[in-house]
Amino acid sequence: MSAALRPEPRPGVLAIKAYVPGKSTAPTAKVYKLSSNETPLGPSPKALAAYRATADHLQDYPDGSASDLREAIGRAFGLDPARIVCGAGSDDLLNLLARAYLADGDEAIHTKHAFLVYPIATLGTGAKPVAVPETNYTANVDAILKVVTAKTKIVFLANPNNPTGTYVSFDEVKRLHRALPPHVLLVLDAAYAEYVRRNDYESGIELVATNDNVVMCRTFSKIYGLAALRLGWLYGPAHVVDAINRIRGPFNVNAPAIAAGVAALSDPAHTETARIHNERWLGWLTEEIGKLGLQVTPSVANFVLIHFQDTPGRTAKDADKLLTTRGLVLRRVEAYHLPNALRMSVGTEEANRLVVKTLAEFMGKA
Ligand SMILES: *Cc1c(COP(=O)(O)O)cnc(C)c1O
Repeated sequence: MSAALRPEPRPGVLAIKAYVPGKSTAPTAKVYKLSSNETPLGPSPKALAAYRATADHLQDYPDGSASDLREAIGRAFGLDPARIVCGAGSDDLLNLLARAYLADGDEAIHTKHAFLVYPIATLGTGAKPVAVPETNYTANVDAILKVVTAKTKIVFLANPNNPTGTYVSFDEVKRLHRALPPHVLLVLDAAYAEYVRRNDYESGIELVATNDNVVMCRTFSKIYGLAALRLGWLYGPAHVVDAINRIRGPFNVNAPAIAAGVAALSDPAHTETARIHNERWLGWLTEEIGKLGLQVTPSVANFVLIHFQDTPGRTAKDADKLLTTRGLVLRRVEAYHLPNALRMSVGTEEANRLVVKTLAEFMGKA
């Protein structure tokens, strides 16, 4: 019999620092939320209409296998629907992958400034998250390979990464994969893939298709503008899909999310408009903020990481304070080991211009 005087969570759970989402309020009449990488354009009107139509059937369970959605994803991306699993956001799928492949004593690798869901999901299983250094805020394949051991079961790679916005070329991803032992699952989290315009980038579909130890996670939360519905998907080898289907919630994706997801994929013009808006303003923000004497990490996603100065009055905390008084809500990133930076999602033209104007004032260059 255990000597504990009350129920105790499994080892690791109390080591988790709970995820703190981006703020969404400011003390102003108008608030510009630029803290969660949401699209300023919102979802496709078709997705909104499909979502609303489900209101007449709320008494019915959703299709537990999300067949329509998997087929729509299959058509849109040229994939076998049988090798797709949908989830309540990619968070759901990342946690399911951790639960299926990690146990006490195992290790999962992620890079130093990687998405916080990886260490949280890892610790929840009793396994140990191993963080490796990055180079110029970018994942470093050699640093990852250096810490792979017999205990390593998963390598999480956000590509592009949040909150840095940097990416790893497909050649480097393939080099990483080639050097991993076959028992290690490589999880490619491509939440921002739709935004990337680089010839040497791939989300990882080809690597999944041709290997037994690679999965790719995608989301409807970012370019598709459906974050509130919680919808993501993974593409994996048949044996991984089988394992995840055994442990996922039988109705883990709700009916409005399925309907909206299918409709969102039927409106590629809306997605393209969002991509073009992002391309224009990502470049503009990087250049204009750089001109103020602030360093901006080159980003291929829909956000920028802005580095501040160490002098009192010029820190990220000081900037955040001023921006907030103007209704501009950016993201503090101390939890990502970036104590003197802010992450800004690309917003509307109005929001983007107001941030640059406020930062110019902050830097004494207005
Ligand atoms: C936003 C984001 C996701 C998406 O999460 P959802 O649960 O699908 O909303 C996944 N990975 C990264 C790196 C992200 O930044």
